[in-house]
Amino acid sequence: MLNVEQIRQDFPILDQEVQGEPLIYFDNAATTQKPNQVVQQLVDYYQKDNANIHRGVHTLAQRATEQYEASRQILADFIGVQSNEIIFTSGTTAGINFLARSLVQPRLQPGDQIMVTRLEHHSNLVPWQELARRSQAELVFAPMTATYQVDLAALQVMDTNKLKVIAIQHVSNVLGIQQPLEAIVAWAHQHDILVLVDGAQAIAHQTLSVKELDVDAYCFSGHKMYGPTGIGVCYLAERWHEDAQPFNFGGEMIHQVFDTYSNYKEAPWKFEGGTPPIAQAIALAESVKYLQNHGLMVIRQHEEALTRVLIQGLQQVEGVTLMAEGPLDQMGHGIVSYNIDGVHPHDAATAYDLEGIAIRAGHHCAQPLMRLLQVPATLRASLAMYNTMAEVESFIETTRKVKEYFQYGA
Ligand code: PLP
Repeated sequence: MLNVEQIRQDFPILDQEVQGEPLIYFDNAATTQKPNQVVQQLVDYYQKDNANIHRGVHTLAQRATEQYEASRQILADFIGVQSNEIIFTSGTTAGINFLARSLVQPRLQPGDQIMVTRLEHHSNLVPWQELARRSQAELVFAPMTATYQVDLAALQVMDTNKLKVIAIQHVSNVLGIQQPLEAIVAWAHQHDILVLVDGAQAIAHQTLSVKELDVDAYCFSGHKMYGPTGIGVCYLAERWHEDAQPFNFGGEMIHQVFDTYSNYKEAPWKFEGGTPPIAQAIALAESVKYLQNHGLMVIRQHEEALTRVLIQGLQQVEGVTLMAEGPLDQMGHGIVSYNIDGVHPHDAATAYDLEGIAIRAGHHCAQPLMRLLQVPATLRASLAMYNTMAEVESFIETTRKVKEYFQYGA
């Protein structure tokens, strides 16, 4: 069992009052808090080892380089891939833009198709809209089941000659629903279709072997897995390292530079032009160690238990409508979206804040999904490993209060 009380000691930010009430932080899908170990790693790096990497021969430069490359190995082991398949980026968005420009654009012919779903975060939609426009390709939307998963049977009728890439989320940042990636990959790879995954909402909530999933690329952000902002990872399978073109040209990624042309390093370094976010990459390894020390299976069990009570509790509040209610193995990532009848989500979120509870209200960077759900916005509660059952219960009680407040006034 997860020792949540001990874990909370590592997150002093949680131990504060907001609006005179103990803080309940349920906005973890937006960003997670950072444990002392990660913060300390940033401080240690800047106080003891700060130097630019790869270029210097002096001791600090070597230390910084060693730590940066060691971090790459730790990330690779974490998701079960080779270290040269880990490309450091500034986050999920940067990883997806890199894939669109470096890997997919050179392969596209006018009339080819790129497939996404209507559940995508804008970060996994807008780059593909833009690429489709530039390449005269067509953006198509995957057929979905009533429970918001890709309809595998309906996929069979797609024109597999035209379809070149499926860009899809692993877990929805609005509905918490997980997509059946194994089956999608099995079908896509039979037809030489690439599968590129936005793993932003999966990475901190389940054990994962990206190698076993056999996707072609998988992107995630450090700040959603208890790590710093400004760092992310794009896994790119080695089989695509030759085809993919560098995207950022300049220092760090070159081998030799002549007057009119240059040649480039091998992957992953040819994809990491310029000084990378060194401190953040090193501290991200610390957040991986933190997750591993507590165990992702145990974290998952804890979060699933909380999610179950959260969903059941909300279902019992009259006037609350949940946006999705799938089985927990498909939506146990701690993300629950809902609305309260007659209350605008922004008003409700403000009322929660007055009770010390941080949740999100809005379209969650998923406007096409809002149209599918036929709502302008939703409330979203999202959990993390440090949340407690008492917090969930208090949250349900507050939901009742919020509902009554708007029904009858103060
Ligand atoms: N994809 C999903 C599913 C997300 O939830 C988010 C962030 O909320 C992103 C992509 C974008 O992540 P970032 O802003 O860290 O690049």
